Amino acid sequence: MATLWIYPSLLFFLFPSLTPSQALRNYPENEVTLLDTMSALGDLGWEAYPAEGWEEISVMDERNTPMRSYQVCNVMEASQNNWFRTRHIAREGAQRVYIEIKFTLRDCNSLPGVPGTCKETFNMYYYESNNPNLWFIKESQYIKIDTIAADESFTQTDVGDRVMRLNTEIRDINNLSKKGFYLAFQDVGACIALVSLRVFYKKCPLAVLNLAQFPDTVTGGDSALVEVRGSCVNDSEEFEAPRMYCSGDGGWLVPIGRCVCKPGFEENKDYCQACRPGTYKASSMDAYCSKCPPHSFSHQEKASECSCEKGFYRADMDPRSMACTRPPSAPENPISTLNDTSVTLEWSPPRDSGGRGDVTYSIHCRKCAGDGRICSPCSNNVHFVPRQFGLSIPKVLITDLLSNTNYTFSVEAVNGVSDLSPTPKQLVTVNITTSQTVNVILKERKSKDSITLAWQGPDRPNGVIVEYEVIYYEKNQRDQNYTVLKTKGHMMTVEGLKPGTTYVFRVRARTDGGYGNYGGEIELETSHEDMLAIGGPNQSTILAVSIAGGIVLLTFLVACFVVSGRHCGYIKAKQDPDEEKMQFQNGRVKLPGSRTYIHPHTYEDPNQAVRDFAKEIDASTIRIERVIGAGEFGEVCSGRLKLPSKREIYVAIKSLKAGYSEKQRRDFLSEASIMGQFDHPNIIRLEGVVTRCKPVMIITEYMENGSLDTFLKKHDGQFTVIQLVGMMRGIASGMKYLSDMSYVHRDLAARNILVNSNLVCKVSDFGLSRVLEDDPEAAYTTRGGKIPIRWTAPEAIAYRKFTSASDVWSYGIVMWEVISYGERPYWEMSNQDVIKAIDEGYRLPAPMDCPVVLHQLMLDCWEKSRSERPKFGQIVNTLDKLIRNPNSLKELANSSVWEDPTTPEFSVSTVDEWLDAINMGQYKDNFANAGYVSLDSILYISMCELSKMDVTLVGHQKKILSAVQSLHAQGTHVQV
Ligand code: AMP
Repeated sequence: MATLWIYPSLLFFLFPSLTPSQALRNYPENEVTLLDTMSALGDLGWEAYPAEGWEEISVMDERNTPMRSYQVCNVMEASQNNWFRTRHIAREGAQRVYIEIKFTLRDCNSLPGVPGTCKETFNMYYYESNNPNLWFIKESQYIKIDTIAADESFTQTDVGDRVMRLNTEIRDINNLSKKGFYLAFQDVGACIALVSLRVFYKKCPLAVLNLAQFPDTVTGGDSALVEVRGSCVNDSEEFEAPRMYCSGDGGWLVPIGRCVCKPGFEENKDYCQACRPGTYKASSMDAYCSKCPPHSFSHQEKASECSCEKGFYRADMDPRSMACTRPPSAPENPISTLNDTSVTLEWSPPRDSGGRGDVTYSIHCRKCAGDGRICSPCSNNVHFVPRQFGLSIPKVLITDLLSNTNYTFSVEAVNGVSDLSPTPKQLVTVNITTSQTVNVILKERKSKDSITLAWQGPDRPNGVIVEYEVIYYEKNQRDQNYTVLKTKGHMMTVEGLKPGTTYVFRVRARTDGGYGNYGGEIELETSHEDMLAIGGPNQSTILAVSIAGGIVLLTFLVACFVVSGRHCGYIKAKQDPDEEKMQFQNGRVKLPGSRTYIHPHTYEDPNQAVRDFAKEIDASTIRIERVIGAGEFGEVCSGRLKLPSKREIYVAIKSLKAGYSEKQRRDFLSEASIMGQFDHPNIIRLEGVVTRCKPVMIITEYMENGSLDTFLKKHDGQFTVIQLVGMMRGIASGMKYLSDMSYVHRDLAARNILVNSNLVCKVSDFGLSRVLEDDPEAAYTTRGGKIPIRWTAPEAIAYRKFTSASDVWSYGIVMWEVISYGERPYWEMSNQDVIKAIDEGYRLPAPMDCPVVLHQLMLDCWEKSRSERPKFGQIVNTLDKLIRNPNSLKELANSSVWEDPTTPEFSVSTVDEWLDAINMGQYKDNFANAGYVSLDSILYISMCELSKMDVTLVGHQKKILSAVQSLHAQGTHVQV
């Protein structure tokens, strides 16, 4: 205190006047204050020693609020060693704590007559302890934090002018482990006033993202990331375990996983709200509640499905989004075509299918006797072709009926809900009576006045045959004269005939049930004179009589029917998309990994593929707002989509320009039928299509940041490596999903990745023709295909072997594009040189600031042998491990784009050329205006100078300085 009287006004002026806003500070949300002298009203009670050193005083701020502070100014005496220490400061679990001090310091030169021992610094220390009441700590026990110097000291004139130079310094202490610590300040002969001291730690504040809540989290020590598991918000459940990383500076990074609203709830910003009455949500994978489908209702909130109206039903396999349906009406207009003991039945489909497309038919057969009054089910001997039940076409052939019998066939239409309805089934009935035809196999013995006939009995007599009746007459004389003969046997010789005359014979059988039908007519001519019979008794001649011919024909027809029926059945089974449809139309519920992608070309009718996989959207629900890009088929616009009973969302709208050909329309829509099969957070989501009016449009989710390559170029150097790895992880996860579905992308490149406002990257560009037509990077290969050479694996270029492994190669290139912020792979090398270099084993070097592990992963993706490349699942796991352990990213590959072997002759002679070469051409004016006109002038440029000349982005500064380093290293190439 001895010196105080020399500068009575000094201490007062050591304190700048504090504005209320400084005194009542609002600290950032992610900082938790452990100690703040600005808010301490009474004594701070800190220990000062020796007694004539630091002094605790009160000053008033402009609101007259007292503030406690410490000062010392023993500048006139040498060998000062003045200490004061704070009370014990509990660390509240924080491992890293920040100390912010505000102080003023007198400039020694401004103090007249002070000796050379006057100092302009002081020291800050800490001591960790579990004991909150230590009364003494030895100087040697303290750990030094730093020597603090003023950025701004002040002179007497400043004091006179009342210009206060308040310094603010922040230091941190790390890896704290005890309950708390003491801070100490050592003065060795300076004139200091410690205006305020604030001790705080950082936390990542409570956040809700992707419907997962992440708690307040204290940051880790040593700038390590802290992995935090999120918990799903109310009424939601995990889709993929939600995780995020709390970074050392209190920010959240790399969200992974998400929760989804449970059935009956839909997402609304950060929470799940109940579906309103009249709406439902069946699966947690559906984003929003939908209006109840026709003939169904939900009277309560939170419905996960709608109940069917009376008389309507929902089959077990029906998706909840399908309208409730009812059994079909009866089939109509039955027609029967009888052929002996076979009958073909045909009918028209029911007028009302019940609202379903799965109508089939069943045939019920009854055999009736006694004028149709006594009926019983048909025996198992009756056959139905193609089958009796579950017929998909309105036609059946029924064979092996009994001859001369009454049958009643009932045709019933059945659909998927027929069994659920208590009402009797709707039938149409057909009655027929079969004939009983005798098939004559003529065993002929002819003479001039007799003919011998033989025959076979009917195939299926409806009883025991009592006798056969043979009728004959002279040809063309039936009306005048005919003769009827009867026999119990199968042969008869008719005698008393005229020589050289043609007779017509017919035979029928009689059972207890009566006569059957006559068989066909047979014409035979008696001999003109006695002669040996043509064919003896052992020489049977089998004539192709009309009946037999009929049988052959019938057999043939039946065979054809069976064969063609089976054939059609087979083709249908193969082509019928219904089977697959069941899997895909069931809302958007898809079990990951359980499905295979269906190529739209497997559809005979490509429009069917669009109908199956893409929802038709009413054009009136879309509002187009602005053009955001140009696609192969027309403009790409952004706009809004407001579907009935859904929230309005931002969408991208691709339209098909006017004057298109049918093929162009098909190709355009093929993208929708491919995209519509995918459902993954890293795959661009299809909202639907407009095909019923013009222009034809494809509507997808809107990605605010556009394509990844442009986005990276725009934000060069602005992301942390963890953020970049987070982007790569997203792309790999999307590609894993595609490869699990056996979909090969063929054009994976940063330009085909879209980025949304949360930096989530999604794979896009699924058009069929895209690799051929759309991609400006695609070039013709010697085999005629058009391929984006720089992104494509060698085996795909050489012999079009496109596989998920060739997608992995492209993925490696995308990693390179990401780390180099959108640099062009292989720079300006020609495609031919790229192919040659790859073949010779050359691989892209690590971009600037690229962690070794990432470059190694790229090199793995670029293994020549495709079986040795990692699978996408392995890539996702590797990236997850890196994110969990950021230290593994610290070792950088020792190369930069300047070590690119393709530019060994790299030489620049002007600053402008140099800036162009390092892609920083936008700063030419800044360099010129700051006087950097020759290359040698930039060799010693500093970060501070770059800031002064308005190169403020840290990433750009780093890039420029790194390039300057390279200039030093390869001075011989630089023509300065
Ligand atoms: P494409 O025809 O798919 O290559 O789209 C052409 C351009 O339109 C892309 O490069 C993007 O800039 C933009 N674009 C396409 N789809 C979207 C989307 N869903 N969100 C935002 N921009 C998009």
